[in-house]
Parts: sequence; structure tokens; C-alpha cells
Amino acid sequence: MNIKGNIHSIETCGTVDGPGIRFVIFTQGCPLRCQYCHNPDTWKTNEGNRITVDELIAKIKKYKSYMKFSAGGVTLTGGEPLLQPEFAKELFKKCKEENIHTTIDTSGFISLEKITDVLEYTDLVLLDIKSFNPTLYKDLTGVSNNPTIKLAKYLSDINKLTWIRHVIVPNLTDKEEDLIALAEFLSSLNNIEKVELLPFHKMGEYKWEELGYKYKLKNTSTPSEETMEMAVKIFKERNVNVIYE
Ligand code: SF4
Repeated sequence: MNIKGNIHSIETCGTVDGPGIRFVIFTQGCPLRCQYCHNPDTWKTNEGNRITVDELIAKIKKYKSYMKFSAGGVTLTGGEPLLQPEFAKELFKKCKEENIHTTIDTSGFISLEKITDVLEYTDLVLLDIKSFNPTLYKDLTGVSNNPTIKLAKYLSDINKLTWIRHVIVPNLTDKEEDLIALAEFLSSLNNIEKVELLPFHKMGEYKWEELGYKYKLKNTSTPSEETMEMAVKIFKERNVNVIYE
């Protein structure tokens, strides 16, 4: 059976979603509504383009030399790629048959039972933890952070290589006590290669306006250098390998 995925778009030479040069596939559909989302055009599950795994693999193979030269690979992001677990599994299985490195970028808001198969063919997980504070997480995304925390613990249990991503938003995710709680949680796990701290910016604001959505963070600025340094220090003090560039 040639499984189809519902895709928003493709970036053939991405450099920010995993190591090396990557063939990045943005899937369509996301159950979260993050206040700072850059890709609100990926939210609706009834939009996008359907494409078979074989069609995608044929496209991916054209870029194999770039991937090999740069130690890159394929990244599935979104939207939420794990909303389509059968597709993700089949795509990654075929990538591994071609000896291509696989990365999945997820919010973790998924049912763990449905995605353990996908993880068998995944080399690296980029797990976005929007906040460790459950109340703030709900306010920021519209959903609970329980599944994300459960997935983080599971990835540690199976020793799956993981990078954590955390966006610092002034007056939302920059609170010292929340950052300390997140850093302490991450320092208790044994599979975290690094934590990327990403300063909030408004790159996606124009898309919200085009789509007729209300952008709540209109008056929020990017975090100051002092705030970013404070956050970095909190992670470093807990022996978490933190990156902020
Ligand atoms: S999880 Fe990602 S795609 Fe979904 S709403 Fe949040 S930032 Fe946007």
C-alpha cells in the first residue's frame, strides 16, 4: 500500500531543523494554536496537498548528495507531523532503507501508543516544549502539556536522541521559576543532546492577518539580551547543554 501524506509545503535545502542540509517536509494540520505560531496556514487538516510516500522518496533521492556531504537528512515538521503516524512511519522506514538520517519536529501533543512505531525509524526528535507550567501552556497553546511531558520521559526511557526547543516570549515564557522547573526536568533526562532557546519574533504575524486571525502578541517585543542570558544561565547551572545564537 502506498500511503499518502497531507503536506503543506517542502523546503529542499533547510538548515535549521536538524543537522546538516535537510529536505524539510511541512505537514498540514495542527491541534495546537500557539500564540506565536509562524505557520498558522498549516493548522487546518482539511487543506494541503496529498502526496504518496513513493513520490516524496523520489524527490528526496535527488538531494541525497547534499545530505551525504553535509551529514544532513530528512525532517518532518509542520503543523504536527505526528497527526499522520502511518505516513511518518512509512516515509522514515523508506528513508532508512536509503540510509538517510531522519528527524521529526513535534509538539508532543499526540497519543504515545500511536507513534512508538514511528520512533523506531527516527534518528533524532526535536521536541518543542512551549512551557513546563501547565496553566501557561494551556493559555499559550489551547491544550494540555501532559502528552508532551509524557513523551519527553518516554524518549529518555528508550534513550532516543532528542533536542529540545523552547521559545522565550516576554511576559509569557520568560519567568524565572518556569525556566528553572523546565531546566530541572530536562536535567533529570538522559537523552537530551541540547536545548535550543529561541527568542520570540513576529515573523508569522502577517500570515495571521492574511488569514483573518487575531494576533494576540502584536504589542510584544523580542526578548532583551539580558533575558536571554538569564535563561541560558538557568540551564547551564543545571548542566543542561543550552544553545542560544
Ligand atoms: S505546534 Fe507549531 S504549527 Fe502548531 S500551532 Fe504551535 S507553533 Fe504552530
